[in-house]
Formats: sequence, C-alpha cells, structure tokens
Amino acid sequence: MSRSNNKMTREERRQKALKHFECRRCGNCCTWPGRVRITAEEADAIAAELGLTVSEFTECYTRLSASRRDLELTDHDDGSCIFLTEEKLCRIHNVKPEQCRGFPWKWDYPRSEELCEGMRIAWKKT
Ligand code: SF4
Ligand code: SF4
Repeated sequence: MSRSNNKMTREERRQKALKHFECRRCGNCCTWPGRVRITAEEADAIAAELGLTVSEFTECYTRLSASRRDLELTDHDDGSCIFLTEEKLCRIHNVKPEQCRGFPWKWDYPRSEELCEGMRIAWKKT
C-alpha cells in the first residue's frame, strides 16, 4: 500500500508522538518485565548515591545477566525494579542508568503507546 493515503509505520508514528511526549510519572516503565543493565561506571555512581561500597551495592541490588557479561538490577517480588518506591518514584533518580534515561527517546517497548501513560497521551495527538 502506498504512503500517499497517509498510512504511517509504527516507527514514524512513534517519532511523531515523541514530539508531544511528557513523562506522567506513572512508573509503568519500571514495572513491566525486562532487564535493566548497568555499566561499571553506573554501579560506582549508584553505590555512592546509596552510601554503599560497590561490592555491597552489587551484592544487594544486582545480578549477572544471562550472558554473564553484564550486571543488571534485581526486582521486587512483583517483577518491578528494585529501586521503584511504593510512590512509583525512582529511588536512584539522580544516577539512574542510561537505559532508563533513554526511554522512550532511544528505545521502545512493544505496545509502549498503551503501557506508558505519557506515550498513550502523545500517541493520540498524532
Ligand atoms: S532504576 Fe529507576 S528508572 Fe530505572 S527501572 Fe529502576 S526505578 Fe525505574
Ligand atoms: S511509563 Fe512513560 S509516563 Fe510512565 S513513568 Fe515511564 S516514561 Fe514516564
């Protein structure tokens, strides 16, 4: 089908929606299933923010990824990120990993236009 009838691909629509995006602080992106990978520099920064040594931090809050090449944050029992508070805030907001800062700008989650409150609203404006 030609684009002349105004059909956009999902990615085109996503890019358009991003122009209207505003985080609504719903916390859903910290709740849905997934892995939050962290670099060594991020581990240093998070440990310092929490007043822990790097080994205390890695022991309490991280695990090895399945590939055993990266560290990733652990989860609460319900699968949400270990640093998501009951108020749906990030406990390490000032030093949160690049992966977290990158959503939804640099990467996308399937159906994020339904699951992310900010994208849901922005999507309607496209
Ligand atoms: S580190 Fe913070 S922003 Fe990243 S998933 Fe965990 S709670 Fe969310
Ligand atoms: S899911 Fe979207 S609106 Fe909700 S906290 Fe994450 S980025 Fe913000």
